[in-house]
Amino acid sequence: MAIRGAPTRLSEEALLADYPFLPGAEALLGGETPSVRSLLEQAAYERARELGWARVLAAQDDPTASERLEALESPLPGERYLSYLSFLFARLIVAAAPTAGAIRRWAVAESKRSYQRLQRASPETLAEVARRLDFGLEAEGDRLRIPVADYVRLAAPIREAEFRLVAQELRAGRVVVTAKRGARLLEEAVRRALAVPLPLTPELAQAVRAQAPERFAELARRTPSPVGRAGGLAGPVRPELFPPCVRKMRRTLERGENLSHAGRFCLAAFLHRVGASFETIVDAYRGAPDFDESVTRYQVEHITTRDGGRGYEPPNCDTLRSHGLCARDGDPDGAEPSDRAADPRCFEASLRHPLQYYERRGGRAAPRETSA
Ligand code: SF4
Repeated sequence: MAIRGAPTRLSEEALLADYPFLPGAEALLGGETPSVRSLLEQAAYERARELGWARVLAAQDDPTASERLEALESPLPGERYLSYLSFLFARLIVAAAPTAGAIRRWAVAESKRSYQRLQRASPETLAEVARRLDFGLEAEGDRLRIPVADYVRLAAPIREAEFRLVAQELRAGRVVVTAKRGARLLEEAVRRALAVPLPLTPELAQAVRAQAPERFAELARRTPSPVGRAGGLAGPVRPELFPPCVRKMRRTLERGENLSHAGRFCLAAFLHRVGASFETIVDAYRGAPDFDESVTRYQVEHITTRDGGRGYEPPNCDTLRSHGLCARDGDPDGAEPSDRAADPRCFEASLRHPLQYYERRGGRAAPRETSA
């Protein structure tokens, strides 16, 4: 639904229904916000749960097919609360999903669905959506003005050459863009907002998964695995063979917890050596509490392009141990029993390097500088 002009009381509701990720969208529930437990368990929310799962699973199959998500929306104003609840439930599912790929694909699909609406919206509505997402877009006639810093943050992941800063009209510290280009930038703002998982405690995440284990198994089947780079000596990427230290680093980020600088460096260098694509490595950091797309891209590029694309050497076991990152004794909070137990392979005296662990289990990695 297109929204024209400054939001009035009526259009405020329409605005929130069209963009349910905006702060305050819970107003669509008319003051009857259910608790997470109720949403998970009560029969009254069965339809919202079904729609929520449909949203998430459609996004896994094809995150670019935004019309599949649009088709799940009810056009009836009286059912806006249902659309919002299904959106909320979908957010819970992807926050509790065991792999980061699920939330990434869902965030892409929902942002593309929003883009269809943003393209039809007035510059004033675009500016209002941006303001609520903390970006400083301002309407100027039929165009938009954006502070340079915000422009750079939003345009960094967009590959089309026409979005490069050097190709933009700059005026008094602001980039001036058409409404269509502003809508595309906002699509990126939506994707960024939705790619940040809801902060669930481990117990709550477990409760969400326990509510529908067979659905989560289906989600895992339908979410593509990490993507490998074409060509080269490494790959295919086999996460099930990763050493405990790397598995723990990934889980830490997926749970939205902080990972030390040394851990972040090791993860990127390791993933690169086992053949993960650039985008897969960037995705691994999306759950970080301080995730910043442009900074992450810059750092991953720095780590992976060194030495003609060989990338930095991942740290060996002794170095990881000195940083408190070795997990051979197991991770008490690990999602799988195999992660919680000590791994005997890590106690073999000849094991010196996480890549060596991966290769011993049958994975293929690009050669290290010195064979451990
Ligand atoms: S022994 Fe090495 S491979 Fe195993 S968890 Fe520790 S650092 Fe990782």
